[in-house]
Amino acid sequence: MQKQGTTAIAADVSFVECKHTCPCLPEADVTIYMNFMKSHCCYDAIPTSCKLVIFDTKLQVQKAFYALVANGLRAAPLWDSKLQKFVGMLTITDFINILHCYYKSPLVQMYELESHKIETWRDVYLKCSCPLLISISPDASLFDAIYSLLKHKIHRLPVIDPESGNVLHILTHKRILKFLHIFGKKVPKPVFVQRQIQELGIGTFRNVATVHETATLYDALSIFVERRVSALPVVDERGKVVALYSRFDVINLAAQKTYNNLHVTMLEALHRRTCFMEGVIKCYPDETLETVIDRIVTAEVHRLVLVDRGDVVRGIISLSDLLQAMVLTPAGIEALLS
Ligand code: ADP
Ligand code: ADP
Ligand code: AMP
Repeated sequence: MQKQGTTAIAADVSFVECKHTCPCLPEADVTIYMNFMKSHCCYDAIPTSCKLVIFDTKLQVQKAFYALVANGLRAAPLWDSKLQKFVGMLTITDFINILHCYYKSPLVQMYELESHKIETWRDVYLKCSCPLLISISPDASLFDAIYSLLKHKIHRLPVIDPESGNVLHILTHKRILKFLHIFGKKVPKPVFVQRQIQELGIGTFRNVATVHETATLYDALSIFVERRVSALPVVDERGKVVALYSRFDVINLAAQKTYNNLHVTMLEALHRRTCFMEGVIKCYPDETLETVIDRIVTAEVHRLVLVDRGDVVRGIISLSDLLQAMVLTPAGIEALLS
């Protein structure tokens, strides 16, 4: 997909009045990122060129996931040829839900994965959830895009041209934070980024979902389905983090066609990954917000694992937490993540 025209990145941001401010920081300081996101539109954050794959809902689910793997993609919009419109998204979370729903044992073949069309799966699955596609216009602000991603608890937001009906790009938290990291250099750096992460309280610190290294891959998928978290720190018997297993990693099972045996240990599942990141990208409670942002953008990951000096898991700081705290909370929009 080729981006049309060019856009100027505004170097100057105008400050609007904000009702919600941190009592100990100047209002202009707290609202810098909020104003940045309000003054840029989704089109600004779209790359000049990118690959986009669209699936017809009549395609078999198994073929769809193989196609995601073959194209190195994480998600695709779904086109209903009867309705002549986009009706949803197919993401790795859907692959996880399908595996979790139909897997019985290594000895029983998952015929549903092979025989179901995307529309059949959606008929089964969407009985109990919202069937609408959540999308955004290229002219909408990045602030609205962040609000939509966090409100709907999704990770993929298609940008659809209202005139042509074409999908131009799929926006993610990662893309938006990277945009801020590159072009936000032109706006003054807020003082609060020098504060420690523990002081700011950004992230999840209680009831962190983890998986033991000796638990099975099926156990991990069950946690993904039940807790709806995007990743699990893998821990040893002392609670020390030894690896990270994210929803993205589950696509390896499609790439290697190994989804028929989910009764392998997490250690085995981690070793079998072909496309993954070495080590765990972590942070400590006394590190500053600026350090955390730099690390998460540089590593191109969706979250950091917050650990103590003994590497015991103390929390998760995800891109959702950062965007909530830096952009939505200053606008008076509290806790969309709870
Ligand atoms: P992942 O993190 O695996 O990419 P998401 O968290 O975005 O997946 O998706 C969670 C669920 O919401 C999936 O069932 C997916 O199909 C659905 N979904 C994701 N994005 C959208 C969207 N823009 N509109 C409607 N449904 C979506
Ligand atoms: P997405 O781009 O779909 O949001 P993720 O960032 O969750 O995907 O994951 C992409 C890859 O990076 C996966 O292999 C995952 O295991 C790895 N990864 C993500 N976060 C971390 C982390 N904090 N430490 C180590 N590896 C990570
Ligand atoms: P995400 O799905 O990563 O964008 O994050 C949505 C919310 O879930 C954020 O508040 C995260 O801190 C939180 N979260 C992500 N992973 C975990 C986890 N393993 N355990 C508990 N909370 C998590």
